[in-house]
Amino acid sequence: MRRVTTDEVPALDVRDLKREGLIAAGQERVGVLRRFRRRSRANLAPGEKRIVELVANLRLTWTPCNYGGSRPWFVCPGEGCGRRVAIVYGPASPPLCRLCRSLSYASQLRLKGAARKN
Ligand SMILES: [Zn+2]
Repeated sequence: MRRVTTDEVPALDVRDLKREGLIAAGQERVGVLRRFRRRSRANLAPGEKRIVELVANLRLTWTPCNYGGSRPWFVCPGEGCGRRVAIVYGPASPPLCRLCRSLSYASQLRLKGAARKN
């Protein structure tokens, strides 16, 4: 069976939240509600909605940067996980890390697609 890749599901990037001003230095938790629109209607299961709502209330942890300051990470809320990750994935809430969601990286498959297009 083909594994679902990281670009097929709603994702939340901690760096985006920081850029958007939702995370302040030293903040220990972040709550967001975000809506995603599926790119294509084609691979929807019957009854599945095109708009996916992702609710996240995640713990944050901070590490120092080489160039000073510090950067935030999500702490994956998966059972027995607690990994420090930059991106968590839906569509279920809470979103979890790539390993908890058993996702493959999109780039592993994208190579093939790119070759076909040209
Ligand atoms: Zn995890």
